[in-house]
Amino acid sequence: MRAEPPSPPPLAGGTDGPAALRPLVRTVLDALGSGARSRGGPLPPGGPEAVDSALARALGDPLPEDGLGPDSALRDLVEALAHGSADPADPLCAAHLHTPPLALAAAAELAAAALNPSMDSWDQAPAASALEAAVARSLAREVFPGGAAPDALVTGGGTESNQLALLLARERRGAVQVLCGEDAHHSVHRAAWLLGLPAPRTAPLRDPAALDRALAAAPGPVLVAATAGTTDSGRIDPLPGIAETCARHGAALHVDAAYGGPLLFSDARRHLLAGLDRADTVTLDLHKLGWQPVAAGLLAVRDAALLAPLGHTAHYLNAEDDTEAGLPDLLGRSLRTTRRPDVLKIAITLRALGRRGLGDLVDRVCSTAQDLADLVEKHPALDLHGRPVLSTVLFRPRGASDERTAAIRRTLLLSGRAVLGRARADGRVWLKATLLNPHTTPDHLRTLITLVEGSTPDDGDARTRPRS
Ligand SMILES: *Cc1c(COP(=O)(O)O)cnc(C)c1O
Repeated sequence: MRAEPPSPPPLAGGTDGPAALRPLVRTVLDALGSGARSRGGPLPPGGPEAVDSALARALGDPLPEDGLGPDSALRDLVEALAHGSADPADPLCAAHLHTPPLALAAAAELAAAALNPSMDSWDQAPAASALEAAVARSLAREVFPGGAAPDALVTGGGTESNQLALLLARERRGAVQVLCGEDAHHSVHRAAWLLGLPAPRTAPLRDPAALDRALAAAPGPVLVAATAGTTDSGRIDPLPGIAETCARHGAALHVDAAYGGPLLFSDARRHLLAGLDRADTVTLDLHKLGWQPVAAGLLAVRDAALLAPLGHTAHYLNAEDDTEAGLPDLLGRSLRTTRRPDVLKIAITLRALGRRGLGDLVDRVCSTAQDLADLVEKHPALDLHGRPVLSTVLFRPRGASDERTAAIRRTLLLSGRAVLGRARADGRVWLKATLLNPHTTPDHLRTLITLVEGSTPDDGDARTRPRS
């Protein structure tokens, strides 16, 4: 027999929303805590097989005929997900630009979800759209302090920001040839493909004379896409020289500062981004060095006029007479339609921490990277790729083959004891530690090194044996 619920489940918004949410949030918080405790490390041991079967047990039938109710569904799945997470809040989880979100930003997400503004029209997001306009402009002014009318779009991340940058360049200049460094983010290549542009060519961005020759030889319009903080090593292209060369040749300049952009908040490190303000467009990603839950991307533009090609009318969202009567037209601020108010957590974080608080977090993780580099450099059995610029450290066991280096990473992953990334640099495989956790201490770094030392692929420990 089917049990008819007496009334539909409660809603998150309105005056009754908070009362409905309170017990559910308590359930979620308890489940987050017990899942993290039962995991007991940066990720669950046992690799995909163990994770898949634990998840299958918790999930059961994904669409039962009769629902289990909110408590059971929340408890079972939040606990299973917490248990089965690679948790960037654990200092030994340091593979990717996968940030440990600040508690306050996660709390802000609850408000965003409960209110559910959609950023595609004013009548779905009156205050949220005003907040987005103010915060986006304020961040754009950080990037372009001398710009006449800087502005920024809120995006789903660096991939979308880079795509928009290439689109805006194409709309302004025609089918641009993108020139980028060999370690430019893969999304630059995909964006060119998606937009029907010629495949990006790698150019010697670090060599001004060679870049000058490449631009002089280009037959048509060019967009130089430089990177401020490469994904693999955190390297920053020499922006002042690149900007100078682009200006001389009338080439457009985009800077992908998805990783390095928040150096702007640090008094001690802002100088590393000198020249950034000479770009036409700049990608920023606050779900990396900004400690935001995904998604928190931005594309800053030097001049709001660059955004004109995104203007678009849909009668039900921004009819001309509505716009003439003073309702803000939001549709031209994204290629998406329904869109989350990601700006809320960003705004709350900026206000709560201030520039100094954010700059301090940036400085902390950058100096953690220096600490790890010091430990590696002093270690007789490890090689350091180079001194870190941002918060990424590449290292490898001295004399190890690429295969053995890659296997160490997998051994640690499958054991659940540490999450390191991998990078290819100078033709070799390196272990990559991307340090984004401001709570990481030198002791954690020493543990990490000890784990790497102890992780030969065939050390016989069942927990560390890779799957065949
Ligand atoms: C992470 C990253 C991107 C892509 O950003 P997403 O938020 O993952 O879409 C682009 N460029 C660089 C340099 C990155 O590090």
